[in-house]
Amino acid sequence: MFKHITLLFAGILLATISFAQQITTPEPTEVWEPVPRVVTPGMNNLPPSDAIVLFDGKNTNEWKHEDGSDIKWKVEDGALTVTPGSGDISTRQTFGDLQLHLEWRTPAAVKGEGQGRGNSGVFLQSRYEVQVLDNYQNKTYPNGQAGSIYKQSIPLVNACRPPGEWQTYDIIYTAPRFNADGVKVASAHVTVIQNGILVQNNTEIKGTSEYIGLPKNIAHGDDSLKLQDHSNPVSYRNIWVRKL
Ligand code: MG
Repeated sequence: MFKHITLLFAGILLATISFAQQITTPEPTEVWEPVPRVVTPGMNNLPPSDAIVLFDGKNTNEWKHEDGSDIKWKVEDGALTVTPGSGDISTRQTFGDLQLHLEWRTPAAVKGEGQGRGNSGVFLQSRYEVQVLDNYQNKTYPNGQAGSIYKQSIPLVNACRPPGEWQTYDIIYTAPRFNADGVKVASAHVTVIQNGILVQNNTEIKGTSEYIGLPKNIAHGDDSLKLQDHSNPVSYRNIWVRKL
């Protein structure tokens, strides 16, 4: 019995000494592995070294229309512009979790109002729309304005520049997870920074973006990034993603 008590006290003493060491010396809390790989930041608005460039101002090879054909959107002065009526365009590559950068511009010549003025959209995994719209002094329902997750989440602020000016979206997206039975076990989440201003902060995406009706949650894997033809000549440039 005495022996056991001695051992117990010895144990407590050792644990106390080791705990004291941990909080009085810096080394135990230094983590040396793994070492993050090097990514070289882009200079002068160029993509970082590990980005997949989806539009560099000239080449449209990364894109297709729904039927798989080459895109009919116009390339002019380094910008890719919706040819109204030609249809949405999607990346040939598919993605899950990602960081996305793109720049967009609504027409300088203002036409239409509400949802009819400079409407396009960025569809993550072809399903979840980050709205693109000219909302510079243009009223619409806030859960459908620029920076919204369409019909699901109002942006924190209106960060729009005037029509005809280039605007940026930096998007961090975590895809939804589904189990083997096709049941959603984790929602997608998205952070959107418009022109350097936070408009969606790790927002839960409730399901697909629907014009009419409730969001749907049908199991899917990686899918294309899609840009919307909403009959307005909205332009895009400098589009790149990093897989996460
Ligand atoms: Mg839209």
